[in-house]
Amino acid sequence: MAIRDWLAAFSKDVVEVQEPVATDLEATRFLLRHPRQPVHLRNLQGGEAVGNLWSTRDRVAAALRVSNADLLPKLMEAQAHPKDARVVARADFMRHETTDVDLRELPIPKLFPKDAGRYVTAGVWVAEWEGARNLSFHRILVLGADRGACRIVPRHLRHMYDEAMKAGGELKVAVCIGLDPWNLLAGGTSVEYGVDESRIASALTQSCLGKPVDMVRIKNGLTVPGEAEYVLEGRLIHEVHDEGPFVDAVRTYDRVRKEPVLVVDRIYHRDQPIFHIIVGGLDEHFMFMGMPREPVIYQAVSRAVPHVKAVRLTEGGCAWLHGVVSIRKQHQGDGKNAIMAAFGAHTSMKQVVIVDEDIDIFDDRDVEWAIATRFQADRGLVVLHDVRGSSIDPSARDGFTSKMGIDATKPLAADPAMFDKATL
Ligand code: MN
Repeated sequence: MAIRDWLAAFSKDVVEVQEPVATDLEATRFLLRHPRQPVHLRNLQGGEAVGNLWSTRDRVAAALRVSNADLLPKLMEAQAHPKDARVVARADFMRHETTDVDLRELPIPKLFPKDAGRYVTAGVWVAEWEGARNLSFHRILVLGADRGACRIVPRHLRHMYDEAMKAGGELKVAVCIGLDPWNLLAGGTSVEYGVDESRIASALTQSCLGKPVDMVRIKNGLTVPGEAEYVLEGRLIHEVHDEGPFVDAVRTYDRVRKEPVLVVDRIYHRDQPIFHIIVGGLDEHFMFMGMPREPVIYQAVSRAVPHVKAVRLTEGGCAWLHGVVSIRKQHQGDGKNAIMAAFGAHTSMKQVVIVDEDIDIFDDRDVEWAIATRFQADRGLVVLHDVRGSSIDPSARDGFTSKMGIDATKPLAADPAMFDKATL
């Protein structure tokens, strides 16, 4: 769907900004003021832009026409059983295309004062190498009319890039901006190399909406999601440039690194396109970075204990470093096994709380209540020293971190009257 249609669907939540907004920090002011509402900037340096569009689970679930509770099972099923997308002949973004590229004319903001410059943040990259297709998020620092420095984390796109450079060539890429939430969730998914994430998006829409995702072939030969507002067609070349500082998920500045340079050869866009901005460390970032990890944690903990009810990476923990898992405890020690499994599944996580299934893990206060009334540090605490952790945690030393698991499940033989919350 076009972003304009989503804005119409959620119109009661939307903050409309009619006044002219400059790309230098001004957009951030509006986006920080309304973090959980879609903010529609009607005139961001002459173009239209939106931020915080998918900042709540409610809106993502509503777009997929499922309940919040069904979101994780649906995502898990889609990750386990990807399905083919449908290749169509045309897409709305093909209505306008130009090789007279100037990224500086697009409504791309500089978000925070010490950021290195203007950044594309909501771009899902498509690349193909030796028959494998990959979708992933990578930020782009605008360097000039047709160039950007791109943070290519050491995962699948980096592998394709390294192989292409070894072969003495370039890597053809497409950066899709203004996607529907299923493709954004797919872009944030970490599955094994060779799994085409667009097939995860398609499995998700197939099971929730009864239709596959539409893909379309662009001029450089790549096949990309058809619903994009903008598509930047280009190449990663054998050249690096300083990238950063930039505010990442933990809302601190990520450091400067030498990163690959993207050359944009062609820009496609819809009629009156709306540029999508994801602000680092706000809830919309969490939705597409953290939430796609929850099914992975769910499956790992399910192998360690008989029944997992729910998994959540918490906003307070940047939806990356801290999590909560609710289980049905059947053996003394299940809580600790769940802790070990959760840390193994999501290696960036440094704190996990395991609770019983009567606790609402989506309510931080209820989780703290479980810790307050069911946890004793001398029996329920697991501390791991010097484990490999997240690169974006400023308190980690050289990538090493300590991890804390809190088993806040009640003792198995407990008298319910002593531990269960009283109700009428
Ligand atoms: Mn991948």
